[in-house]
Amino acid sequence: MDMYTLQDLFVDQLRDLYDAETRLIKALPKMAQAAHAPALREAFEEHLEQTRHQAERLEQCFEKLGARSRGKKCYAMKGLIEEGEELMDEDAEPDVMDAGLIGAAQKVEHYEIAAYGTVCTWAQQLGQHECCDLLKQTLREEKATDEKLTHLAESGINQAATVGAHA
Ligand code: FE
Ligand code: FE
Ligand code: FE
Repeated sequence: MDMYTLQDLFVDQLRDLYDAETRLIKALPKMAQAAHAPALREAFEEHLEQTRHQAERLEQCFEKLGARSRGKKCYAMKGLIEEGEELMDEDAEPDVMDAGLIGAAQKVEHYEIAAYGTVCTWAQQLGQHECCDLLKQTLREEKATDEKLTHLAESGINQAATVGAHA
């Protein structure tokens, strides 16, 4: 893709995010299945639903920009998901697995927060207000998910893992 303008770069990065969200739609059910604590499983399932909407919002952005809806391989998300899969292949204690899953998921959310923050700024600079609103909605969901995961980690899942270590 030729990148002459900020708008070209904007579309390019939306495609990176579209690929990332598509990968997450496939990965989150596996993470939900691997989670032991019901609250963590529910958090993954809820975020899966949100992630489907996030992919749709990106499609709406492409439409508004007159760009074809397609992904561009996001190597970062591919790698983060592979690390999560590596963890899920381990024969870990339930609480330890949950602690690891939270950590893996938070790395994903932080990547998304960084990427959506960037494209929100560009949308604003480009005067793409509708895209800006759509991307901001997603950014809020990613931040809320990150906070929820922090709360889950602090509210006992990781504590249980620590107890397990001394048992
Ligand atoms: Fe997302
Ligand atoms: Fe990427
Ligand atoms: Fe997310």
